[in-house]
Amino acid sequence: MATGTSAKSVSKNKKNKKRKERGLLANILLSILIVILMTIVIVGICMLGYVFSFVNGDIAINLDSYKNSQSQTSIIYAMDDKNKPYEIARLHGEENRIWVDLDKIPKEVQNAFICLEDKRFYNHSGVDWIRTVKAVLTLGKSGGGSTITQQLIKNLTDENQATVSRKFNEILYALNLEKNYDKSEIVEAYLNTIPLGSGCYGVQTAAQKYFGKDVSELNAAEAASIASITKAPTYYNPLLNPENNKKRQETCLWNMWDQGKLSDEEYKSSLDYKLILTNSSEYVPSESVQNSAPKKDSEIYSYYVDFVIDQVIKDLVSTYGYTKNEAWKMVYYGGLKIYSCVDEKVQNAAEEVYVNRINFPYESEGRTETGENGTKKKIQSAVTIMNYEGQVVAIVGGAGEKKTNRSLNRAADSPRSPGSSIKPLSAYAPAVEKGYINYSSMIQDYAIVVGGQRWPQNFSGSKGSPGHYVTTQYAVCHSLNTTAARVVQKLTPEVSMDFLINKFHLSTLVTDGAYTDCNLSSLAVGGMTYGVTSLEMTAAYATFGNGGKYYKPYSYTKVTDYQGKNVLLENNAVPEQAISPETATIMNRVMQTVVISGTGAGNGCTGFTTYMKTGTTSDTKDKWAAGGTPYYCAAVWVGYDIQEHINAGSHNPAAIVWQAVMDRVHKGLPKKDFDYAKTVVARTYCTSSGLLAGANCGGRATGYYASNKIPGTCTRCSAAPAADSESED
Ligand SMILES: [Zn+2]
Repeated sequence: MATGTSAKSVSKNKKNKKRKERGLLANILLSILIVILMTIVIVGICMLGYVFSFVNGDIAINLDSYKNSQSQTSIIYAMDDKNKPYEIARLHGEENRIWVDLDKIPKEVQNAFICLEDKRFYNHSGVDWIRTVKAVLTLGKSGGGSTITQQLIKNLTDENQATVSRKFNEILYALNLEKNYDKSEIVEAYLNTIPLGSGCYGVQTAAQKYFGKDVSELNAAEAASIASITKAPTYYNPLLNPENNKKRQETCLWNMWDQGKLSDEEYKSSLDYKLILTNSSEYVPSESVQNSAPKKDSEIYSYYVDFVIDQVIKDLVSTYGYTKNEAWKMVYYGGLKIYSCVDEKVQNAAEEVYVNRINFPYESEGRTETGENGTKKKIQSAVTIMNYEGQVVAIVGGAGEKKTNRSLNRAADSPRSPGSSIKPLSAYAPAVEKGYINYSSMIQDYAIVVGGQRWPQNFSGSKGSPGHYVTTQYAVCHSLNTTAARVVQKLTPEVSMDFLINKFHLSTLVTDGAYTDCNLSSLAVGGMTYGVTSLEMTAAYATFGNGGKYYKPYSYTKVTDYQGKNVLLENNAVPEQAISPETATIMNRVMQTVVISGTGAGNGCTGFTTYMKTGTTSDTKDKWAAGGTPYYCAAVWVGYDIQEHINAGSHNPAAIVWQAVMDRVHKGLPKKDFDYAKTVVARTYCTSSGLLAGANCGGRATGYYASNKIPGTCTRCSAAPAADSESED
């Protein structure tokens, strides 16, 4: 029984339990349902809240900062005779953009885009719901349904995949943009960023690319042609597919007429207007474009443009701490305006000489050196030309045709041993400055003892003799090595180095260790570990032409953002008095004799006073000529990229090139003389004693002396003229 009762009660209990469980399940399900419903409601509210707060919230895309930072074409300018800037190069990578304000974009251009792409633009608030619904219902077959605002978002965010969430975000961004900007700001940004084929972004570069006009010069027919590209930049590209473009251009014109933006008359004449594209034989560029011609995409820039780009990148890195890559991006995509110091007249003159290898003496003799592996080697060369206020006005970094952009610039980046051209900087100017020597001081022409040996020998092979003395002028004019060694020995190598590094700012010298340049051999005859660059030699030599002032060489005056409002980089010429005006004038006068009777005889600039020092390394692998006229200073290097003996004739080939360049540069310039120090006076000196000439002195010449350091009068010469006297000039 008990079991029966218990069995019954068990079954009852089971039933109760089942009912209970069922109730519990229902409760759980109901709870879950409620939770789900509540979640949906909450999410929905949140979503709406998100949409609402996003659309009405802070600016999601800032058009102003975009305008300032977007990928834009940088422009390099030069200055004309009236100090007005004009373009010499446009820099862009794959993209070519120039921002123009809306008031510079004709109504026809604005209307062409609006009528074709978004006729309700001025009425919707970012999204054209009619078109959007149509697009959704027809699965996009009726067109993208994107408004100009949405297209702008797409162009600014680079989001291009056709996904639902992308579309949703684009709508939110568009609504937000319209809340924060007025229609004119939106259409301006749109017209300046829209991709228009052939690497063009925005209507200005497209106007120049396709019609060779400034955007302000476009008519309705041309505007419609450009607006037509938008739909498919390659298919409708007027240069590549003119028929496709023409068909859509007609559609665009019809839309403009239909929407009341063209009169019947204008519509008809625009349809009939013959489009003349830049690849047409009838094409003539408009005056505005001729004056600021966008250069061909494939253009090889000059060495100067390369040089200024390098400088700006370096300076952006050092001033703002950018990485080299960031600085590079800024220069090519940052819409910078770079005001360079190039003087195109000078640059072109130098290039004319350099592009033609026949101007290189070695080449003109018809000989070609054959290298070890049988390859024909070409002699190379570099030149820098500066004015006397630190501006690099021209630079050429190689001989022959320039074939690539940012190729090796030997003038700025390849230090080479200066040979004897170092002597005025390392020996004679410091010794004049210290008061050790003057214009006509007698210096012993006799090799010194180094390591138990007499060293060095002169170019003639002679080591001089104990009793042979020459004047400073003679020693420089004929580039004696013995005298230079004696002068550096007297100065000490340390003092000589100090002048080179701290006064003349040669940055490529080795200052310590096993390969230091701080020794007699480097400093007296210029056989250096790395050497010096043409650029730094020019800046150092300029001190002899401008009264002793050193200016750090610079290639641009300023760099601004695209609006010209913010100056990012600036160069102000601030001179340092490297040597006294008296020393500068005396050295200038001494070196004038080099082109009259010395190692550069006949290689002065025709018609202009010239100071110069030539240089040949003792192994004859590097040839130099550095010097100046009253207008410009220049340093020329000639040699092989992989050092090799140069079989040049008796004349220094660098001096010949220096003259060829400077003669062209100075063609037509008015006469001018150096601004010599007033405290330097001319006196007649005795060529056998170097003292001022007395009544009995035979050999006489004119020397130049600081008025407070005039030498005494010669009393050595007897009444009978000295037999061994010789005239120096
Ligand atoms: Zn005398």
